[in-house]
Amino acid sequence: MNRHPSGRLTSGKRALKDLLARPDNRVCADCGAPDPKWASSNIGVFICLKCSSVHRGLSMHISKVLSVTLDDWSDDQIDSMVEVGGNASANSIYEAYIPQGVSKPRPDAGPEARSQFIRSKYELQEFLKPSLRILSTASKNSFRSSMSTKSSESFRSSASSQQPEGMAEFIGTLKVKVLKGTNLAVRDMLSSDPYVVLKLGKQRVQTAVVKSNLNPVWNEELMLSIPQKYGPIKLEVYDYDTFSANDIMGEVEIDIQTMITSATAFGDVGAFEGMKIGRWLKSNDNELLEDSTVNIVDGKVKQLVSLKLQNVESGEILLELEWMPLDQ
Ligand code: CA
Ligand code: CA
Ligand code: CA
Repeated sequence: MNRHPSGRLTSGKRALKDLLARPDNRVCADCGAPDPKWASSNIGVFICLKCSSVHRGLSMHISKVLSVTLDDWSDDQIDSMVEVGGNASANSIYEAYIPQGVSKPRPDAGPEARSQFIRSKYELQEFLKPSLRILSTASKNSFRSSMSTKSSESFRSSASSQQPEGMAEFIGTLKVKVLKGTNLAVRDMLSSDPYVVLKLGKQRVQTAVVKSNLNPVWNEELMLSIPQKYGPIKLEVYDYDTFSANDIMGEVEIDIQTMITSATAFGDVGAFEGMKIGRWLKSNDNELLEDSTVNIVDGKVKQLVSLKLQNVESGEILLELEWMPLDQ
């Protein structure tokens, strides 16, 4: 026998004890309670009993909870703790940017506040540096999609995390506010009765009909679920006819890739209030009437789009898009 198995274990346990003895590890990484006796071996933090129970509710690949004194630690688990270097180093990453209005729970915090903070910190990784957030988007999405939303609803429905396939189908919802049409085509005697249809895959949504109006104002919100692979949204305008088939009044495609990719890259958009995060440029390859920017307004990702209708003599459509990723 080249190596006594318990010899490695003993030195490992000593390394763990030494790590736990450091000042930053003498308080819980999440709530600051003194003398933490538990650890998340894959995150690399020492935590108190109350916070450990929240960690146990997270999926195992996010947090694996072990007792510092009672559990048998594998060499890998100890190495991973030592590699992270304890609570201070872990928190310098996981709590790099705690936004205003969010505060760490205190040692006497109730279960709800404790749970909300811990899930935001590790599961949604909302407090990472923006640069890390972008890099971690792919892995984040994979467990985000399995955890549905960050609302309190998802905290109750932890069973859904066992079935990621169903949840992963859609990456978010696009809200299209159809604002107005301008100078639309005549399809009756003197006017038209226009309405707008949006199509994406098998989804089809439409606005109400505005009677006898070539400059209709709809101000109507239509919702589309966006799958992982998506193309442009097809917009069609029709004249409603009572006694014959409805007449086409033009069509156009809406590119939503700019909005979704920029929103995904920025991650937690709350930190970028008022910023322009993307731009869909007017060109010969699209029907934009002017450049269209993706803006963060009141914490929402929005884009105003004005388009020239195609395959018709005249007509323009003004829309406001809003992107709502699955985790909101
Ligand atoms: Ca007609
Ligand atoms: Ca008509
Ligand atoms: Ca007709």
